[in-house]
Amino acid sequence: MKLEIHQLTKTFGTHRALQIPEFACEFNRCLALVGPSGGGKSTLLRIIGGLEIPESGTLSVDGVHLPRSEGPLREYRRHIGFVFQGFNLFPHLTAVQNVTLPLTEVHGLDAREARKRADQVLERFGLGGHGQKTPGQLSGGQRQRVAIARAVAIQPRFLLLDEPTSALDPEMTVEVLELLEELREQGVALILVTHEIGFARHAADHVALVADGNIAFGATAEEFFGNSSDPEVRRFLAKTLKFASI
Ligand code: ADP
Ligand code: MG
Repeated sequence: MKLEIHQLTKTFGTHRALQIPEFACEFNRCLALVGPSGGGKSTLLRIIGGLEIPESGTLSVDGVHLPRSEGPLREYRRHIGFVFQGFNLFPHLTAVQNVTLPLTEVHGLDAREARKRADQVLERFGLGGHGQKTPGQLSGGQRQRVAIARAVAIQPRFLLLDEPTSALDPEMTVEVLELLEELREQGVALILVTHEIGFARHAADHVALVADGNIAFGATAEEFFGNSSDPEVRRFLAKTLKFASI
């Protein structure tokens, strides 16, 4: 995949959240956005997903440019799968209903087709026996896997994930990261914001450091974690890896 950004800015009130003069990268399956809190990762991800509209500049994924007006943006968003930190599942709906809802309401599948697709994807994610449970009856890891199932079920161009494991305990984090790795191996493209540096190192093809509203540095994972001489990357890694054993 190819992400290209040119003169992109996003301001909230008087606060300039993003100002990216120029960025381009090509990656096979997985781009990880890392960096300090408040640096602009979520804002960038939301712009990539068409959930937030920049004031100026252009952004394209695989040559598809971000539309500017609401109608085309809605169409653009339809083909992207979103997974957020909190699970964002409807608490009163079952796992199956959470997965079928966007299929019938946004993607025009009839109830039977939607159900079939939901059953398939839940089965594939090891949730076959949990389809009739509501989120409250599932563990955190299972809930996040249902959220990922829902995002995958629409057969998106790519998945956007914003800190998909940060609300999970370590064991459930592994459960979700394993699923993401599996998806990646099956050919699903991922752009994710993560604090799981070990995962970024292991599963990302490309890593971009987002700090102070800009992409301070982007490189292949190997280069990023290997011997990057970029001072900002070094500072970030030194801080992040202080108590890690990777
Ligand atoms: P990150 O995800 O890297 O922690 P964010 O993209 O959430 O960073 O935020 C970047 C900056 O933009 C922060 O200073 C944040 O406070 C600000 N910001 C983000 N979203 C909003 C919003 N909806 N309204 C006002 N300020 C926002
Ligand atoms: Mg964020």
